[in-house]
Amino acid sequence: MIGRHLSELDTPALCIDLDVLDENIRSMSKEMRDAGKAWRPHVKCHKVPEIARQQLTSGAIGVTAAKSSEAEVFVENQVSDVLIANLIVGEQKLERIARMCREGDPIVACDHFVQAERLSDVCRRSGVICRVIVELDIGMNRVGVRPGPDAEQLVRGIDRLQGIRLVGIMGYEGHLLTESETDRKRKRIEVAISLLERQRDRMIRDGICCDIVSAGGTGSYQMTAHLPVVTEIQAGGGIFGDPFYSKMCGVTGLRPALGIVATVVSRPSLMQAVLDIGRKSIHTEISPPEISRMANGKELTDASINSFSAEHTVVELGPESRNLIIGDKVIVVPGYSDLTTLLYDQFYGLRDNFVERILPIVGRGKIQ
Ligand code: PLP
Repeated sequence: MIGRHLSELDTPALCIDLDVLDENIRSMSKEMRDAGKAWRPHVKCHKVPEIARQQLTSGAIGVTAAKSSEAEVFVENQVSDVLIANLIVGEQKLERIARMCREGDPIVACDHFVQAERLSDVCRRSGVICRVIVELDIGMNRVGVRPGPDAEQLVRGIDRLQGIRLVGIMGYEGHLLTESETDRKRKRIEVAISLLERQRDRMIRDGICCDIVSAGGTGSYQMTAHLPVVTEIQAGGGIFGDPFYSKMCGVTGLRPALGIVATVVSRPSLMQAVLDIGRKSIHTEISPPEISRMANGKELTDASINSFSAEHTVVELGPESRNLIIGDKVIVVPGYSDLTTLLYDQFYGLRDNFVERILPIVGRGKIQ
């Protein structure tokens, strides 16, 4: 399919506009640099080592992953510095981490002594040292040790373990992404991140290493990156410029890079068209997908998505779009790409609407 126009693709086809991707990567990287922060983008949105390597070339220091097997895909593909921003429990996963420590230099998050103790055992047995950071709950109420005495006790305990090396702390302010009032959002993020600052200060006082203070997602980094205590930002999904980030989180300067090419398969009435995508090929919650143009470039200013079922999407057509016919191809932009990309085996990388590259989503299905 290399060299073909996007309208020739079999559908549904998940496409990246490579010019927009390049621009978004450059823009995020510059924002981190200007704020004096290291960028460790989360790769769960794309799961493609080739894109991660582009992020590294653009200035990222490493990447963030959600799962041990996801991280392994990157370590095996020349991306050695991977933060697994999640809790790793279970013998196979720990063995996998120990293997990764031979090829790369992963960092694993812990929020309880038990996780760290087991990782320490496996690493000692394997003769490797794994870097660890402690995750604090900074208000999201998901995971993370409670800031204060619990966190202090945990870092002291972990710092004494062999086979692992404590290098810092992290917290994710994910509960504040969609706070609509800008000043209030900034203030609440400051309060959340101050919990990391207090913990970092105690660690310095006690002579415990806290080189890394990691935080920030795409929905918050434009504020979080300006807080002095933070050393690294995990924001990743912004490279696809999803409507979720711009419309629901107030993020600026990023443009949508992803589009799904879909085919009109039915015209049940004058005002309706049905597409060959559905819940099995596009994620519909968090932020709704949008339809804006045909694959031939013609704008669809008055078409809007009405409903989804597993394999169908019903589109409501206004007077300008009523000449859509069966077989026409249209572009649908996912509202939140993270939960859409995992439904596909590959991205088509497009330049000026022609296929330049095919990017296998190597990390797809790596959920262990
Ligand atoms: N860090 C962690 C631990 C997360 O869970 C998330 C999102 O779920 C992020 C960062 C931000 O990811 P993104 O920038 O892709 O929205």
